[in-house]
Amino acid sequence: MNALNKKTIEDIDVKGKKVLARCDFNVPLKDGEITNDKRIVAALPTIKYLAENGAKVILCSHLGRPKGEYKPEFSLAPVAARLSEYLGKEVKLAEDENVVGENAKAMADALEDGDVMLLENVRYRKEETKNEENFSKELASLADIFVNDAFGTAHRAHCSTTGVAAYLPAVCGYLIQKEIEFMGGALAEPKRPLVAILGGAKVSDKIGVITNLLDKCDTLIIGGGMAYTFMKSLGYNIGTSLLEEEQVENAGKMMKDAEAKGVKFLIPVDNKVGKEYDENTEAMVVESSKIPDGWMGLDIGPKTQEIFSDAIKGAGTIIWNGPMGVSEWDNFAAGTIAVANAVAASGAISIVGGGDSVAAVTKLGYSDKMSHISTGGGASLEFLEGKELPGIVALNDKD
Ligand code: AMP
Repeated sequence: MNALNKKTIEDIDVKGKKVLARCDFNVPLKDGEITNDKRIVAALPTIKYLAENGAKVILCSHLGRPKGEYKPEFSLAPVAARLSEYLGKEVKLAEDENVVGENAKAMADALEDGDVMLLENVRYRKEETKNEENFSKELASLADIFVNDAFGTAHRAHCSTTGVAAYLPAVCGYLIQKEIEFMGGALAEPKRPLVAILGGAKVSDKIGVITNLLDKCDTLIIGGGMAYTFMKSLGYNIGTSLLEEEQVENAGKMMKDAEAKGVKFLIPVDNKVGKEYDENTEAMVVESSKIPDGWMGLDIGPKTQEIFSDAIKGAGTIIWNGPMGVSEWDNFAAGTIAVANAVAASGAISIVGGGDSVAAVTKLGYSDKMSHISTGGGASLEFLEGKELPGIVALNDKD
């Protein structure tokens, strides 16, 4: 897959065409109210571009897990209302329990150029997550063009993300385009040195990413709970720190591979350790080779902050996924904050993904200092693993 070569909405003529746009409107709801509409806001540039260029826009998305059945509490009605507010014109919801029903068909046929409508939750249909042909064809029958702008579900081969693309010209919207440009660009032709920073709880979640990045990056920095499995592989005592015993051998192998490939591999040299897994636990700073029994590493230490920051300073491109410690707790957030500061100050092309690292960057007010904040958790990791994302593979290549 050459993700960088995919057609975008700007490569095709949408005027007067019915455009089915798959968005990510999987917003959090409480008592039927949207509690955070950032995904709706993120989708607006693509929707506005289509409407302003004369398309008849048919939006679709999933919301939650209705498990293939009509369940009113998973209706996209609140999303239609919020979209209407943002777009300043009514976005009607086609209230069909089977998604592509009589309402959807009649409304799609009645659309004028620039109108926008929304289909019901695609996961009301059991075929959706199985990527079954009949539902993909039904979706395709509504439109002339398919636009995928839902990066968060691009790693899933579902009818509305992948299947439908077999029956229509298929291009990406701005959100997917940006993900492809930044992540695809960073992996294919990075400005060097390429520094990858990986943290978070589990080595096993990130093995694929580490393996792929070892062939691409100049420096690999490991922090967070996953670092202790690497320390263990060096024979260190890690006390009660997070450990994935079955990954110790693998961790050692990855460090050897890095050496063989000439990749600088940095793990913490010191740590802030605590007695208990508790925000206010008694804490102290110790070197990585000297973690006492009964203590657990909950953040990187000050020397490590300096070493990591120095490595980040000279970067041309930075890929960062995962916190350096339990960053949700102020007492163990310093390492993640130091890394966020270094990334923000680096002037490098910076790509941040993963809930906790993004949260740290946002909390510090650095969102604007990052070149790209990836919107898809699982999808970003699979992209960084070098996997083909079916929702992107299915799109048409540029001529
Ligand atoms: P992930 O979802 O894999 O990016 O991991 C994020 C989670 O890792 C956060 O909830 C952190 O609290 C947790 N985490 C990071 N460092 C540590 C650590 N040293 N010990 C325990 N949990 C950690």
